[in-house]
Amino acid sequence: KRSEKIVVVGGGTAGIGVAAMLQNEGLKNVTIVEPSNKHYYQPLWTLVGGGLASGEASVKDMKDVIPKGTDWIAKKVNTFNPEKNSVTLDDGSSIDYDYLVVAAGMQTDWDAIPGLQEGLEQPDSGVVSVYHPKYCTKTWETFHRIKSNPATYLFTFPPTVLKCAGAPQKIMWILEDTLRKEGKRDGADLTFCTPGGAMFGVKHYSDKLEKIRIERGVNAAFKHKLIAIDPARKIATFLDLDTNKKVQKSFDMLHVSAETYVHQFLQLVSFHAVLMSDLSTTFHQVGPHMSAPAFLRNSPISDSAGWVDVDKHTLKSTKYDNIFGLGDCTNTPNSKTAAAVTSQAPVVVHNIERSIDKLPLDGMYSGYASCPLVIARNKVMLAEFGYGGKLAETFGPDGKFPHRLLGTDGEIPHRFFFFLKETIFPYVYWNLWTKGWWYGTNGPLKPNVKIDIEGSK
Ligand code: FAD
Repeated sequence: KRSEKIVVVGGGTAGIGVAAMLQNEGLKNVTIVEPSNKHYYQPLWTLVGGGLASGEASVKDMKDVIPKGTDWIAKKVNTFNPEKNSVTLDDGSSIDYDYLVVAAGMQTDWDAIPGLQEGLEQPDSGVVSVYHPKYCTKTWETFHRIKSNPATYLFTFPPTVLKCAGAPQKIMWILEDTLRKEGKRDGADLTFCTPGGAMFGVKHYSDKLEKIRIERGVNAAFKHKLIAIDPARKIATFLDLDTNKKVQKSFDMLHVSAETYVHQFLQLVSFHAVLMSDLSTTFHQVGPHMSAPAFLRNSPISDSAGWVDVDKHTLKSTKYDNIFGLGDCTNTPNSKTAAAVTSQAPVVVHNIERSIDKLPLDGMYSGYASCPLVIARNKVMLAEFGYGGKLAETFGPDGKFPHRLLGTDGEIPHRFFFFLKETIFPYVYWNLWTKGWWYGTNGPLKPNVKIDIEGSK
């Protein structure tokens, strides 16, 4: 039994999973610092917005997911004192650690776009978002309150890093399919508005999505960045990044994808190399409304943009040997998803054990992320890829599960993938992941995290 004290900052997907795995490995002195008394399984929010799951299914009391034997301090971390191996909490008290794991997620800046907060709060504004538990319920309600028939729907993508880059279009596909099923599709005007130049950041999937977009008659406004909303008049203003001119579009429903803002240009480039296909004219236009989680900004463990600065393979701090980071709050250039976290957590746990044993760190994260792109009420395209957009499909000719078994691979929308997303993943999350018994694509089998990075390039 090991006695090292490990403090985990954040009790979200990453914090809970890593704490549970540490416990299972015999590291019993673990403390989670987490201010919220609720824990959310955020991947369900898109389905809630599309009327395919209930909001209650996405949330549990924090006390019920804190791993057995783990201490929970229901406070916020305010500052990091890595030279003293301690963190200071919002009540001014400090806690010491031998190892620190930072898993504080991303900050959502709802006030970054003029009119957004106001629009989200007004019941009849038509402004919705699946990036918040309250507003994802509003999404489905609003969809059914729309009186005009045919109606105009705008779905927007932000100009910055965001968690689950697929969610902005997942909700669009679900609602488009619903219009068809409810006989309201004829004449309905749906537009996907994005500052990028393509439907998705990985070309392999983006090409398929573009084909689906054209087949299903959804308009695209590429190189369009949402800059303001007038909820009373139901008008959204965009900046056309090609012409640098403002464009106004009226709507019955406007879906806004989280202002999970962050980042300076260089980091945007690395993230969006995965998330977008054409960077050249987009990101020099990024406005000043970006921020990293406030308590991470200017902290000694973060980079200049506020992200926890870690090695992209070992996930160890680039500055401190006893600090690790994972999940949405780090500067690793992967797509920010819970699926990524399930690959990162075993690496962090393994490397902490190696560090305790004074051995070189050999656990390596490959950049794996997955995005189950829900493209209808019963079908998902399962995008799986690593650093640089390298495909890493579980199903299909090169995957762990043979092509023949399913008769499909990730890029082909399939009911089985929808069943995974809607039923299996939430079950696994609540019953296995939060208990430290789930290792991503390895299922319940402990993975070999000593990946040959050179070989995987
Ligand atoms: P979080 O789960 O957000 O947790 C961060 C925690 O840190 C929070 O509990 C917060 O309270 C805490 N915290 C913040 N500040 C402090 C502080 N100062 N001190 C202490 N604690 C603090 N992923 C997928 O894999 N597949 C999907 O289909 C998918 N769909 C998504 C759809 C939507 C709409 C959204 C919003 C997300 C989706 N994701 C999906 C992404 C996934 O939910 C996140 O990537 C994942 O939750 C990241 O885990 P995390 O622990 O880093 O952050």
